[in-house]
Amino acid sequence: EKLDTGLQKTKEGVWSKITRAVAGKSKIDDEVLDNLEEAFITSDVGVDTTLKIIERIEQRVARDKYVNSEELNNLLCEEISDMLARPDNDGDNLDDFEIKKTGDPYVIMVVGVNGVGKTTTIGKLAAQYKKAGNKVVLGAADTFRAAAIEQLDIWGERVGVPVVKQKMGSDPAAVAFDTLSSAKAQGADVVIIDTAGRLHNKIGLMNELTKIKNVMKRVVPAAPQEILLVLDGSTGQNAFEQARQFVAATEVNALAVTKLDGTAKGGVVIGISDQFKIPVKYIGIGEGLEDLQIFRAEEFVRSLFL
Ligand code: GDP
Repeated sequence: EKLDTGLQKTKEGVWSKITRAVAGKSKIDDEVLDNLEEAFITSDVGVDTTLKIIERIEQRVARDKYVNSEELNNLLCEEISDMLARPDNDGDNLDDFEIKKTGDPYVIMVVGVNGVGKTTTIGKLAAQYKKAGNKVVLGAADTFRAAAIEQLDIWGERVGVPVVKQKMGSDPAAVAFDTLSSAKAQGADVVIIDTAGRLHNKIGLMNELTKIKNVMKRVVPAAPQEILLVLDGSTGQNAFEQARQFVAATEVNALAVTKLDGTAKGGVVIGISDQFKIPVKYIGIGEGLEDLQIFRAEEFVRSLFL
């Protein structure tokens, strides 16, 4: 229900456009498909993904012969959730923030530009992983801004998890190294590392993230098991551009899309997941500690269309 409320604006936006696309139609014909195409493109799904969806619907209509417009929502749900990238659930993760215990901590390196909700997402993740019974440690490796270190500290205190930090301007890789060493010594289950969100130039970003990754491997060979890119869902097409840049700079293998509660641009989740073949793993649907959910494709698509 929380998901339904959180996605209300997107739902209204997408829903009203689709309703208009099929208004007065008894079957899915070319005109309906054209209108649907427009509805999706203007819902921030993105052109490429929209064309893919339309093609799938066309095929279904051709195969099933007669598809009436009442069946369309079901059809859309099936086809869209089918095309979304899924997390590899044989891996370390996860259902409801449970972690497979390996003796080494599960390390999440969080990347993304400032303002997208990175710190908030880290706080929410810490809270949820802790609630699921994990010992969590945070690392303040965004040493570029004093405010970033302070913010993370505040979240650590609020959630009740330790934050490893150094002073502003210190080497981010050194902070990451300290964090993992400390986490390992404490027998922590989950480590979440904040990184600087500067996109000033690609090589700089790539070098910094590579250095952090390499240093972490000296403590935990499998680290970082998760490179989580945080994107602000309310920025629509901008989020695509940020994803493009971070994917070029490092091996992003999970996405968190935030601020879906305040926007009608939730269709961006579908487009990004499809275009980058990287699973959306978490979605942010509010400012509270509990307002971060594990993304489940069917559930998400159903709450948009049904
Ligand atoms: P950072 O600069 O990327 O670390 O961004 P912050 O974590 O400081 O978040 C920026 C603003 O976005 C804050 O006011 C957060 O409360 C807000 N925010 C983050 N995630 C969400 C979300 O899922 N929903 C809403 N409504 N606001 C969010």
